[in-house]
Amino acid sequence: MKRLTEFPYSNIVVLGLARSGTAAAEALLANDKTIRVHDKQATEQDETVIRLKEMGAEVIIGSHPISILDGMDLVIKNPGISYDNPIVAEAIRRDIPIITEIELAYYLFDGPIIGVTGSNGKTTTTTLVTDMLKKSERPVRVAGNIGIVATEAVQSMQDDEALVLELSSFQLQGTEKFRPTTAILLNIFEAHLDYHKTLSNYKQAKFNIFRNQTKDDYLIYNAEDKAIAEEVKDARAKLIPFSVHQKLEAGAWIDDKYVYFKNEKIIELKEIVLVGEHNLQNILAAIAAAKLNGATNEGIYRVLTTFSGVEHRLQFVENINGRLFYNDSKATNILATQKALDSFKQPTILLAGGLDRGNEFTDLKPHLKHVRAMVVFGQTASKLKELAAEVGIEKVIESENVEDAVHAAYSISEENEVILLSPACASWDQYRTFEERGDMFVQAVHKLM
Ligand code: ADP
Repeated sequence: MKRLTEFPYSNIVVLGLARSGTAAAEALLANDKTIRVHDKQATEQDETVIRLKEMGAEVIIGSHPISILDGMDLVIKNPGISYDNPIVAEAIRRDIPIITEIELAYYLFDGPIIGVTGSNGKTTTTTLVTDMLKKSERPVRVAGNIGIVATEAVQSMQDDEALVLELSSFQLQGTEKFRPTTAILLNIFEAHLDYHKTLSNYKQAKFNIFRNQTKDDYLIYNAEDKAIAEEVKDARAKLIPFSVHQKLEAGAWIDDKYVYFKNEKIIELKEIVLVGEHNLQNILAAIAAAKLNGATNEGIYRVLTTFSGVEHRLQFVENINGRLFYNDSKATNILATQKALDSFKQPTILLAGGLDRGNEFTDLKPHLKHVRAMVVFGQTASKLKELAAEVGIEKVIESENVEDAVHAAYSISEENEVILLSPACASWDQYRTFEERGDMFVQAVHKLM
């Protein structure tokens, strides 16, 4: 276990025993800190509980004893636990600092950190930067909100490795000193207001990504996002803007044909495999971060000419007899499906439907111009059928599930058409997760071959 040399806290409450809480507790115990762990759902028989007790932690399970805070000087909170939680609220009242495990990981790692945040595009951009550095033979690890606990990852890292961290607003809200050497701010849409209460709180959490940066650091930001462009004026870091609409010689940009970083041509647009303007934004941000952290143009080129998307996010699956299949199962709302539809110009067969949340689909209408046919399924099938009729899409098939939808779509498709799964609905009426739904799609496509 790594040594914590400058961590200013000794008596620490860890709230929530998910993987990040467990990793934090273990790292702290190995550094002789006094640890009290609280988890509502854990049981005395859990392996983690037994291990942490053996290591010297006090483990409290079940209801909320406020006294858990007595004599403690820090709370490490699972990012999912709300600030309304009685223990958290009491910690705020007592002026006990509350952090997330990301802050702890920061104390355990002295190498370069590339932090990625935004309302949308985090996973895609995080993956792109990581792959670009890898393909440039630059030692790199990825962690954070992408599903790898940062505190765990840093334990086995050398300081000459780069750490790429996907960061959610929940994680960032619980940071104090956390300072990425390179920060990426992709965009801010209204989201997670149940947790953050106000849009302003949510923005401030995201802006934590650059608050502690110094003039030696880089802040890569979306110049088209007004709230972001305004806020970064206060940043101390070197500003690196990106835009798909304007020439920005200080950062990453495009013209009709090429992608540029500063004044250097990086790649021809038509060679990029990922589709969609939103992905182009992610690509520009990733190129900037990769270039500033030692990536080669060849490494970047190799990623952009092969990377077909993170699974289930407008991911290119297969070309079967000239039909291009895309899996966008992550599109569980209308906004995401609009983005997916806007990513194509060629005739498209849209596969959509799923859990009925009581909403209408009218906002999809302006995005359906190139949609030649629809295959609908799930609880919202009839609503989507009506929508198709309203915009004059003649071919509409109702199918049992995603697998049948793939067959139906293929049977009516023509060469050079896109067959797109972008459901605009959650999957829970028929599938456990959007991943399972996407996997069914991909399997069905592969069976066609
Ligand atoms: P996150 O990790 O932030 O959820 P992902 O990379 O997983 O983001 O992408 C999720 C969805 O968000 C995509 O399917 C797409 O619909 C949308 N998206 C991705 N990148 C952007 C972007 N830069 N701007 C707007 N929407 C985006």
